[in-house]
Amino acid sequence: MTTFIIATRNRHKVQEIRTILGDTFRYLSLEDFPGAPAIREDAPTFMGNAALKADGLAKWLAETPAAAAAAKLADRGDVLVLADDSGLEVDALAGAPGVHSARFAALDAGTEGNSPDAANSAKLLRLLAQVPAAKRTARFQCMIAVAPVPWSGEVSFFGGACEGRIATEPSGTGGFGYDPLFIPNGFTQSFAELGEETKNRLSHRAAALIRMRRELLLE
Ligand code: IMP
Repeated sequence: MTTFIIATRNRHKVQEIRTILGDTFRYLSLEDFPGAPAIREDAPTFMGNAALKADGLAKWLAETPAAAAAAKLADRGDVLVLADDSGLEVDALAGAPGVHSARFAALDAGTEGNSPDAANSAKLLRLLAQVPAAKRTARFQCMIAVAPVPWSGEVSFFGGACEGRIATEPSGTGGFGYDPLFIPNGFTQSFAELGEETKNRLSHRAAALIRMRRELLLE
């Protein structure tokens, strides 16, 4: 059985990745490796940041005997580090927040670290206040990077996108991040209203992960 070590502490992402890929795989995440160093995600692209996270964790596992032993718990089967870098691109904002999606509100304060989802969404709505419905087009982007354990320096990439538009107010309680504001094409409700099952069929993350599973012949 292949084991994925998911290079994130975002429980929503871990949950979505597990649900989309299903239980033919075994999963660990950064919660299982509390000593793993925080990675500075300062690349200008989703691909760059996904590579930093996948390669960084695979390399740390190679250098840390205790972590390598834990990763090898799976033993029978391959072990792969999987990193997801994702974000929202809004056309009326020339692609912002993009790679800054998680810390969109914090950019103004000049502080380090991510901002609360509500603060990011409030900023987005403020910037789009004068933008009419037809010009509120946007997409979620997801780049999945996969690096083998033991570390080899090799990283593979799989991208996915989901087109939609930004609502004028948040609605729904499901999901995370900008889900209450994002209405996928072909629907009138936000990802947060549509719920887990629909989101995991349509999402940028689903598109990227399904491509990964197919191209790595993991079906
Ligand atoms: P990352 O963890 O650095 O990749 O940051 C991703 C950020 O993009 C999240 O914190 C969210 O703000 C946003 N984002 C990515 N994927 C989604 C999604 O599926 N729904 C809502 N927001 C998302």
